[in-house]
Amino acid sequence: MKSCAIEGCERKHHARGWCHTHYEHWLKYGTPLAVGRSKFINVRLNFRQPMDEWDERTVRRLLAQRMSYRAIQRATGIGYNTVARFVRRERANGVL
Ligand SMILES: [Zn+2]
Repeated sequence: MKSCAIEGCERKHHARGWCHTHYEHWLKYGTPLAVGRSKFINVRLNFRQPMDEWDERTVRRLLAQRMSYRAIQRATGIGYNTVARFVRRERANGVL
């Protein structure tokens, strides 16, 4: 049976690769992980690939909230370097 993509979560798959709980959290907060809750800090998403559209939206939003790259990494599992690369690309495109 397919289960939630969040490392350490054993609940069954519901949507977007996540269980119902993580999916609901994403709907509410824009990230499946609880920002600032120690339980989830440093948990990496094991489905992480090059950033998709959702990642980009999320990162843009977190950057707009002045979150640091490290904080974004903790909150979303998107690596520091991936975020940095994204920001460079956005700047080159005149977006950020
Ligand atoms: Zn889950």
